[in-house]
Amino acid sequence: MSKQKIKKLLIGTNNRGKLREIKNLLPKNIKIYSTADFNLKSPLENGKTFKENSLIKSKYFSKRTGLLCLADDSGLEIDLLDKNPGIYSARWGGKSGNFSKAIKKVYRELSKKDKNWQHKKIKARFICALSISYLDKKIVCVQSKVEGYISNEPKGKKGFGYDPIFILKNEIKTFGEMIPSKKYKMDHRYNAFKKIKKFL
Ligand code: IMP
Repeated sequence: MSKQKIKKLLIGTNNRGKLREIKNLLPKNIKIYSTADFNLKSPLENGKTFKENSLIKSKYFSKRTGLLCLADDSGLEIDLLDKNPGIYSARWGGKSGNFSKAIKKVYRELSKKDKNWQHKKIKARFICALSISYLDKKIVCVQSKVEGYISNEPKGKKGFGYDPIFILKNEIKTFGEMIPSKKYKMDHRYNAFKKIKKFL
């Protein structure tokens, strides 16, 4: 197989935070398209796992554009909340994707489970499933994670989504406080990306 396998690639996400991060990881010689270039809405994510939802997106966007598509499905699992919000991470932000609302919900649910949670280490992990599809055909689908804890207050404005409340294991700052170029090389998406790099 030749070394450069892909010349054009659609990033199948309407989440600007993810798009920025994925663009940063891709080789610069690939022409990148986004769903905004085609005015595409996201499909219904009715899979039961991150991998299923990632494939729903990569196949849907590829079929709508005729382009090879890389899609991500990701989210935050919190052990004390029985691994929620998990695949419902985006939905906890409501229709408008309001993440201060999603973060308040996380804190509310934690307080329901344990009034003293703020004095404990609340284990959590970010999960990312990445898939590449061409039309209805799956090329590859991988999953990775990073382990950490929930911060007892939101900190930092540099990231997106749940970044202000996630502290990676062995770190002090939340993802929201980290310089983006540092976070990109430490997170769940980067770990998943390493597994599919050879297809790009
Ligand atoms: P979905 O994959 O489009 O269903 O959305 C996953 C949700 O998890 C999004 O709403 C994100 O905000 C959140 N999420 C996924 N990855 C990250 C991350 O790296 N930082 C913060 N939030 C994330």
